[in-house]
Amino acid sequence: MESQVEEIKSKLDIIDVINRYLPLKKRGKHFVACCPFHSEKTPSFVVSPELQIYKCFGCGKGGDVINFVQEFERIDFKEALHDLAKIAGVDLVYSQELSQTEHHRARLLIINHEVARFYHFLLLSHPLGKNALDYVLNRGITLDTIKLFQIGFSPVNPALISQYLQKKGFSIPDLIATGTFGLSQYHSQQLYDRFQGRLVFPLADARGRILGFSGRSLPGSTKTEAAKYINSPETDLYHKSHQLFGLSQSRDAIKSENAVIVTEGEFDMITPFQAGIKNIVAIKGTAFTPDQLQLLHRLAETLILALDSDFAGNNASKKSIELADSMGFDIRVVDLEDRFKDPDEALKADPDFFRRQIASALPIWDFLIKSAVKQNNPDTVIGKKKILLETLPFINKISNLVIRSDYLQKLADIIGSTPESVILESQKYQVATTAPAVGDSAPITPIALSAYDKNLEALEAYLIALVLSSKNPPKLSQKINNKYQFTLPRFQNLFSLLSDTTDFVSADFQQSLPPELVPIFQDIYLQSNSIDLDSHHRHLEISKVIDHLLVITIKEQLNSISRQIAQFEAQGQTAEIEKLELEYNQLLSRLPRLPKVRS
Ligand SMILES: [Zn+2]
Repeated sequence: MESQVEEIKSKLDIIDVINRYLPLKKRGKHFVACCPFHSEKTPSFVVSPELQIYKCFGCGKGGDVINFVQEFERIDFKEALHDLAKIAGVDLVYSQELSQTEHHRARLLIINHEVARFYHFLLLSHPLGKNALDYVLNRGITLDTIKLFQIGFSPVNPALISQYLQKKGFSIPDLIATGTFGLSQYHSQQLYDRFQGRLVFPLADARGRILGFSGRSLPGSTKTEAAKYINSPETDLYHKSHQLFGLSQSRDAIKSENAVIVTEGEFDMITPFQAGIKNIVAIKGTAFTPDQLQLLHRLAETLILALDSDFAGNNASKKSIELADSMGFDIRVVDLEDRFKDPDEALKADPDFFRRQIASALPIWDFLIKSAVKQNNPDTVIGKKKILLETLPFINKISNLVIRSDYLQKLADIIGSTPESVILESQKYQVATTAPAVGDSAPITPIALSAYDKNLEALEAYLIALVLSSKNPPKLSQKINNKYQFTLPRFQNLFSLLSDTTDFVSADFQQSLPPELVPIFQDIYLQSNSIDLDSHHRHLEISKVIDHLLVITIKEQLNSISRQIAQFEAQGQTAEIEKLELEYNQLLSRLPRLPKVRS
């Protein structure tokens, strides 16, 4: 196994593999991209062809080619290895025993697929499913589509399916762990089925693995008080926040169109898909979770919302629009013009209209202004107020300042005011800013020294990165050795090894390092990529950094001496005090003067 992992890695180039998922741009010795694992607009995701590793300086994720595929596809090591073996043309010899959790998850997956098959069979081929089938066909869904999405029906009598599954050898605890079944309150050995009497949609991940289900109540069902839709509860497989209905069917189309149409419910996704609009998913609600946005962000840049007409009315949607904007999505809205309540209805009644509205989907900000103006008269004082009230909270959150000021101008024109007064009004909303976007951390580029102030560790790492960004790192490090002694042992070791190197080749140097220094070197080496300085400016930067480091370290020593002096003073030991004062003054004279006073 171990040797096969190495064989696969040696046959693959990390650049080629990652390029399959996201476009990499060459920068210096490395390649960069916007990180697929957190939201950002300036790239801090760096890949090194020499070291065959990647690292994101925004969110900290990093590793080798297998880790990348694992992380990106949200799969485990063995699955990633399996995928990469195919690309590398290596035949994997399976000797592995699965871990306990892998076993558990694999069993739940098998049960889910078995349950989906049973439900599906019942809907298509059994008298018990006849009513449900009629209902689906009446909604215009074809048999082919039913098969493609493996839609099913859960019988009213749960004993049918639970006995079938138990006969197949699945244990009651495993059946319960899938979330589909529970123990009956009345008969302790009897299982109930959460979806009984409902039309059932398997909820799969992008790879088509069924993680859970959603069930829709049927018209005329006896439980009139029950919710129209219910979903699997959170299980070891199913996490609602990751779920995008239809993604396994639409993934390729979303990728090739570089746009995804987002709907609310299962039928809103299925009906257009059946009509040939393939780049479509359902989020099962009107608001995105950060995970859903992240999944889509890897596939497309344009988000076309085909949600309920008043989706922007609730806070969760507002937040998700803001989040999508901060991730750099081009967000557009399909306007159904009050003619239809949802995409399912629009597509069935007037497919051409629906297609037109998708093609001409409005930028979200225009859509919001348009709907506010439609509901309020911009010629009256109250109308103006309401228009501003409904639109400004959104416009104010537009992350691109140029676009934001364009829309403030637009609003001013509409209500017959000046942009200045609209901006003034808008400032009322700016105070209540929301939390930063997911994983939004300090970007590593461009490196601003001030960001490293007072942080000895970051500053020492930066100094090594500066050295590594030069043409001859060993030579430069020898020069620095006379001026500054690293305080952190790992940096001390790394730096002295660097100084002792004759010809610096990154991969060879990495090979020569003791294992505990390898990740430290990799981090700093990839970080050095973002340093774009000519040799003159590099030298200036290096002396600036050293001065800062000296200030930090010397100040620390000064503090410690003052503490000792205070102690000796309390004990009346004058001789000791004199010695220390001398030391203090010597240190003080070595304290570099920084251009700007920072306390
Ligand atoms: Zn990242």
